[in-house]
Amino acid sequence: MQRILIVGAGFAGMYAALSAARLRDERGISPRALEIAVVAPEPRLVVRPRLYERAPETLAAPLAELFDAVDVRYEQGRVEAIDPASHSVAVVGFDGARRSLSYDRLVLAAGSLGFKPDIPGLAKFAFSVDQMDDAVVLDRHLKALADRPPSPARDTVVVAGGGFTGIEVATEMPSRLREILGPRANVRVLIVDRNEVIAPAMGPNPRPLIEKALRAEGVETRLGVGVSKITEGSVTLSDGQTIESATVIWAAGMRANPLTEQFRAAERDRSGRLVVDRNLRLPEVPAVFAAGDTAQALTDDLGHRALMSCQHANRLGAAAGHNVAADLLGVPLEPYQQKNYVTCLDLGPDDAVFTRGWDAQVELVGDKAKAMKREINTQWIYPPKANRADAFKAAEWARLVDY
Ligand SMILES: Cc1cc2nc3c(=O)[nH]c(=O)nc-3n(C[C@H](O)[C@H](O)[C@H](O)COP(=O)(O)OP(=O)(O)OC[C@H]3O[C@@H](n4cnc5c(N)ncnc54)[C@H](O)[C@@H]3O)c2cc1C
Repeated sequence: MQRILIVGAGFAGMYAALSAARLRDERGISPRALEIAVVAPEPRLVVRPRLYERAPETLAAPLAELFDAVDVRYEQGRVEAIDPASHSVAVVGFDGARRSLSYDRLVLAAGSLGFKPDIPGLAKFAFSVDQMDDAVVLDRHLKALADRPPSPARDTVVVAGGGFTGIEVATEMPSRLREILGPRANVRVLIVDRNEVIAPAMGPNPRPLIEKALRAEGVETRLGVGVSKITEGSVTLSDGQTIESATVIWAAGMRANPLTEQFRAAERDRSGRLVVDRNLRLPEVPAVFAAGDTAQALTDDLGHRALMSCQHANRLGAAAGHNVAADLLGVPLEPYQQKNYVTCLDLGPDDAVFTRGWDAQVELVGDKAKAMKREINTQWIYPPKANRADAFKAAEWARLVDY
């Protein structure tokens, strides 16, 4: 028996498992001859792109039945170490017990973590929407603000980071705070960013629309300044200004899961992602593939690289799952490619902007873009139904169909 071990049950891990299982099924190979196992703390997909929304504890989808339907084994636990020499990983379970799992091929799909620089007070006082636990803590904090007397600190939210996540969080906050504090509360929301422009990675095309939406929601911006200190009730900026705020939300960048450091021989980029070849394999460690936020991969022949995003994680996962199974089954590997790139940025209760292409040409705005965002966030990024036909169809779609 041979074993493919997939670390992580996020977007990349789920599609890696479904895609590997699909190829195994297509080739008529028994799950007893080729085992596919997913190791993750929980058998559920946390829908990270929605964690800035209300009720974050509900934003996950079960995976146990889906994995059962395609004969993928789920292994509960958190991987603590990987030994590429002996082809084994050390796993710690819920009960704290440590065990070892071996593999013939490994797919690392352990995602990313919000980057938190060493700024005084950040670790202790800042909130985030990076993981489900973080989002639940923020949600409880926001609700508990209603028990405090009005004050500038209670009524002000500062979002550090004016990129994709920071904008989505900030434009959600005014309506959310008014819901909690009452319509007459003196709500103030600010975005702080070291960059001179908002949403720098999206380029100039959608920027006027984003700026207009921020104005419409009453979200202020402080650009060209950083955060230098955070306390329980304030944030100090690099220009010396102090803003009273009991709610500082850190949304300034992501780093690949530190498990990527386990491959000492492998090249990593500035975000800690493993640099993979066109088949998503680590050139220096051939038994290991990487996908999703842990992988830095070329998407085309023009030099574009996958971003830490769901649309890339889904396709990377599906491609890595196919290739890792193909490698063991003696089937030709298929280079990963993903020519199209789209974004759909939420801009508050009634607004969004949908762009296409690496130069972010605006395709939809307002109601139409918002309807698209709802469809993406409530349907497209959820797992398929828990039966073989739907699971294998979704895996092929994720691997081959461009948006
Ligand atoms: C607030 C927010 C908004 C976002 N909005 C968008 C958006 O609008 N569009 C978009 O495309 N992307 C968005 N993203 C980014 C997107 O969520 C990520 O790029 C995507 O989740 C990456 O998928 P992944 O499978 O690589 O990792 P993840 O989804 O993070 O999954 C990682 C998996 O690995 C598991 N894991 C972690 N450590 C271990 C370990 N040691 N052992 C075993 N398992 C482990 C986790 O439990 C999880 O199952 C957003 C992210 C955030 C936080």
